[in-house]
Amino acid sequence: MAFHRFKALEIVLSRTPLEVTLPSNKVSEFFGENVFGIDAMREYLSEEAFISVMSAIEQGSRIDRKMADQVAASMKSWANSKGATHYTHWFQPLTGSTAEKHDSFFEPTEGGRAIERFGGSQLVQQESDASSFPNGGIRNTFEARGYTAWDPTSPAFVISKTLCIPTIFVSYTGEALDFKTPLLKTLHVLDKAAVEVCQYFDKNVTKVNVTLGWEQEYFLVDEALYNARPDMALTGRSLFGHAPAKGQQLEDHYFGSIPERATAFMRDFEIESLRLGIPIKTRHNEVAPNQFECAPVFEECNLAVDHNQLLMDVMEKTARRHNFCVLLHEKPYAGVNGSGKHNNWSLSTNTGKNLLSPGKTPKTNLQFLTFFINTVKAVHDNADLLRASIASANNDHRLGANEAPPAIMSVFLGTQLSGVLDELETKVKSGKMSPDEKSALKLGIGKIPDILLDNTDRNRTSPFAFTGNKFEFRAVGSSANCAGPMIVLNAIVADQLIQFKKDVDSLISENIDKDEAIFQILRKYIVASKKIRFEGNGYGEEWVKEALGRGLSNIKTTPLALGAFVSKKTIDLFERNQILTEREQHARYDIYLETYTKKIQIESRVIADIAMSNIIPTAIKFQSSLIENVRGLKEIMVEADYKKAGNIQLAMILEISERINTIKLNVDDMTDARKKANKITDTKSQAIEYCEKVKCYFDVIRYHVDKLELLIDDESWPLPKYRELLFTK
Ligand code: ADP
Ligand code: MG
Repeated sequence: MAFHRFKALEIVLSRTPLEVTLPSNKVSEFFGENVFGIDAMREYLSEEAFISVMSAIEQGSRIDRKMADQVAASMKSWANSKGATHYTHWFQPLTGSTAEKHDSFFEPTEGGRAIERFGGSQLVQQESDASSFPNGGIRNTFEARGYTAWDPTSPAFVISKTLCIPTIFVSYTGEALDFKTPLLKTLHVLDKAAVEVCQYFDKNVTKVNVTLGWEQEYFLVDEALYNARPDMALTGRSLFGHAPAKGQQLEDHYFGSIPERATAFMRDFEIESLRLGIPIKTRHNEVAPNQFECAPVFEECNLAVDHNQLLMDVMEKTARRHNFCVLLHEKPYAGVNGSGKHNNWSLSTNTGKNLLSPGKTPKTNLQFLTFFINTVKAVHDNADLLRASIASANNDHRLGANEAPPAIMSVFLGTQLSGVLDELETKVKSGKMSPDEKSALKLGIGKIPDILLDNTDRNRTSPFAFTGNKFEFRAVGSSANCAGPMIVLNAIVADQLIQFKKDVDSLISENIDKDEAIFQILRKYIVASKKIRFEGNGYGEEWVKEALGRGLSNIKTTPLALGAFVSKKTIDLFERNQILTEREQHARYDIYLETYTKKIQIESRVIADIAMSNIIPTAIKFQSSLIENVRGLKEIMVEADYKKAGNIQLAMILEISERINTIKLNVDDMTDARKKANKITDTKSQAIEYCEKVKCYFDVIRYHVDKLELLIDDESWPLPKYRELLFTK
């Protein structure tokens, strides 16, 4: 136990907000100043090197070694001008966070002298010990070495006096050990597939970028309170705690005024983020007390992913300065809303068009409908894989838990677009359309933009919703790396677009007119993917029943959900698009299972630990004081009076004993279950065992501990209570 909650509360109440001043009233004056972006590159690079890097960014061309030397030298001078003394390759291993291996620019030379060195080889590639990161068995059969390699499409930046170079992370044998490698591959595949489809409509389209705009939810809690809660410090969430008398039922926190200390923190991390080129734009309170959200303007997907990873890191570091802890966990408090990370996803062309934005003319609308319907079809065909992409021990507390999107994947389109699809379905018959019908249909579709301006047509309970000009994947967890779900979404849409092109071309080869062929195929997809469309309340019990009737999956736990990663269908999909090999996919699957097992294992140990060494001793002390009291009463009172007076205390003494007993018995059983689970060598069976045979003790132990919290004298309760964690400003 770190320290008693009263000491922590005292500290909290003595805090004052930190002064934070903007470096300038104009954000444009400091935005991106710590990034080796286009402006800095233009200033520091030779023209030749600049062109080479830009073409690597835009066309994916290679940067040769000589050029890399030049870029490295310029990057180093720029970084030095920003006060950097070290550099690191910055990568995203499958643990979910980011990793760094810092090296000094400084290198000792003979005679006790030193030089500053940072050449092309240090920029382009670094060797790192892969054994300290999860590798899903890939390491065991090969060498432990791993390599990080420069990703020029995401600019280098300086943070904490260190030049950070975004990189991919692969094994000695070239297998991906990170999120970035497959993400970049999916972006490439989707670009190619989308460009080909765009050619039906617009020959000027030569490049399609995926755009991602995430919205990050989080909780703030004072550091002193957090440190007095070993469960939160060790697992990121509270494993005990009775619901407070005042919860979120008043919903008075939503968009409410943000307390001063929190505002100072937000301003601080926003400034830091803006300096790092993260275009952070909105901030507001969320539904739950002390819960907040921030969101940037959307960006190209790879950059947006890096920026979210970086933001989470910046938030955590900045919070410490303000004596806060940021809780990125999906469910830090039972009975209180959890946190998600909405992923707004769309496709944009080199001609400046958002492919998921309905156009003004019938022709561009057919293009819109093509991408729109193909996305719905991709989600329909791969719903289980999409479910797997957001599966984690943390997110299991949200999905299907009555407040977040359910574990059932469905797509919300809105009344108007559902209407358009229904119309398309009935009007485009399997035979040929008459010219009249076709133009009527096109004109009908031409009305979409006006209708979509009506923003009320929204549904907040859907895991995957169309919101006017983008799809919003809402089931992503707040602590997740966006790349996980983005890899899957990009891959399934790319694969679907490739199939679409094949289907349309095969009709064209039968001499069917192009527009007609597109209509025919879209109609086929609308019919085939009908069951994934749902416009109603995704939180209701009726939906669970209806979804079952429709044959949609409702996979509630991570160990089972992850299975979709290694189904034959998924492996084929990833292999035929050259995103991940079967071996890589299996390695990832194992890593995710192991991570799940470890999380539950740690939570289980912490529960046992706190119950046995904090809660039970506290309960016994309080019980002893009751016994003492009863003894005293007996001593001073005549029997008749004592019988009246001592009854309540005796009942309390008894209740405490019963609860202690139940807690102890369940802790013992849970420990035995853990021992049994630990002996299992198959990762899948072990994760399932932890899920089904260990985790089931959590609620019952918690229930009795929470009852004791209400029973035991407030002064001796050691852990900060929910009302203090949630309402202390
Ligand atoms: P909310 O979901 O809270 O109602 P909005 O509908 O305003 O909020 O959408 C917010 C998010 O959508 C922002 O993070 C924004 O960057 C993102 N967004 C908007 N347009 C696009 C797009 N074309 N591609 C990707 N993300 C987008
Ligand atoms: Mg949103």
